[in-house]
Amino acid sequence: MSTPGLSYVPNNPHSPWQMYLQQVDRVAPHLGHLERWVETLKRCKRVLAVDIPINRDDGTVAHFEGFRAQHNMSRGPGKGGVRFHPDVTIDEVMALAGWMTVKNAALNLPYGGAKGGVRVDPKTLTRPELERLTRRYTSEIGVIIGPDKDIPAPDVNTNDQIMAWMMDTYSMNVGATATGVVTGKPIALGGSLGRKEATGRGVYIAARETARAMNLDISGSRVVVQGFGNVGGIAARLFKAAGAHVIGLQDASGAVVNEAGIDVDTALDFVANGGKLCEFHGVVPISEAEFWDLKSDIFVPAALENQLTEERAKTISTKLVVEGANGPTTPAADDILHDRGILVVPDVIANAGGVTVSYFEWVQDFSSFFWTEAEINDRLERIMVEALKAVVHTAEKNKVSLRTAAFIIACTRVLTARELRGLYP
Ligand code: NAD
Repeated sequence: MSTPGLSYVPNNPHSPWQMYLQQVDRVAPHLGHLERWVETLKRCKRVLAVDIPINRDDGTVAHFEGFRAQHNMSRGPGKGGVRFHPDVTIDEVMALAGWMTVKNAALNLPYGGAKGGVRVDPKTLTRPELERLTRRYTSEIGVIIGPDKDIPAPDVNTNDQIMAWMMDTYSMNVGATATGVVTGKPIALGGSLGRKEATGRGVYIAARETARAMNLDISGSRVVVQGFGNVGGIAARLFKAAGAHVIGLQDASGAVVNEAGIDVDTALDFVANGGKLCEFHGVVPISEAEFWDLKSDIFVPAALENQLTEERAKTISTKLVVEGANGPTTPAADDILHDRGILVVPDVIANAGGVTVSYFEWVQDFSSFFWTEAEINDRLERIMVEALKAVVHTAEKNKVSLRTAAFIIACTRVLTARELRGLYP
């Protein structure tokens, strides 16, 4: 089975790129003299669309569509994950690249923003087919990636094994082992301790710091998490370890509830061993509508974009939304949540733990000197707490949402770099 070509959908009402553009429009009035450069943020520097033909195990040939978008490189090489998902479009990859530009600048990491994706359901491929797809995709985008050009990492449905194949393919093509071309690699291949857990850990840190400022005790709080993969799973585990009751979970297989608190660690093992979340013991399967009706103190969307829509924002019962996923809240929903007094910690800060430790991994690969997990977690904690403090301060000073505040900090950094570099030629 191949995927149909040309997945760009102009005028799509759920377009993540349109969502990103609206967020940029909201920051423009706060940029002072840098506003004259704002158009730079409204387009990608470069977008590559590639055909990925692979031999299937049954002897047929299948074609898939892949992308790599480099949104902005003013502050450094591109950085951003690679997603394997049947709904990937060029529009989505462009938006995710734009959010990476903002995220890297908000955390003051020396990177631009990029993102990649292949329109495929990896569950329909055998392992050898998945490896061939990964290697062909890497070869096709090989002309624009590299340790000092653009550094991919894991995202939805990609993991350390996929990064190992990407690193090997790139290395074979350039004739030298280039560990720094991707991050999120296995530890045995120059990966960093703590990277796998870093995004979920960052989500937890963001929630903890914000909850403290709201006088909301994490211990004993009710937490609902959408997405039980790398980000949602680790975040749920850390909330539970801090004494919270994770009462609701949802993944692609369905949603579940346990009002007394779900045994997250056992559920993670169950899912890791091929079990379906809705078949886990000690939980009751619920419908999608019932999931969105759950009452929580903290809600963590950690699956895909466009989940907290206008309709859901009107009825969701929570105090704090901490965005593990990229782009889960639409701009209209943002306004409704704000009016209802529900605080949103935006993706560009809340899920930045992953790219922060990816940065540590890249630095460790370049210096061939590896840090302890305690050093990594300690530095992650400090960077996240400082970045959050700056965002809260900017939000208070400008009387804007945390999202617009993060965009003010980030876009000011990106456009200052743009202005200092000037336009070539
Ligand atoms: P993952 O593939 O490990 O997990 C995704 C989870 O979402 C799975 O549990 C899946 O079943 C669930 N899911 C998929 N479709 C769903 C649906 N329609 N409804 C409910 N659940 C659904 O991916 P991940 O790495 O955890 O990424 C999740 C989100 O976090 C994405 O938005 C990604 O861009 C973002 N993110 C990831 C990282 C990272 O380091 N992995 C970093 C920053 C942001």
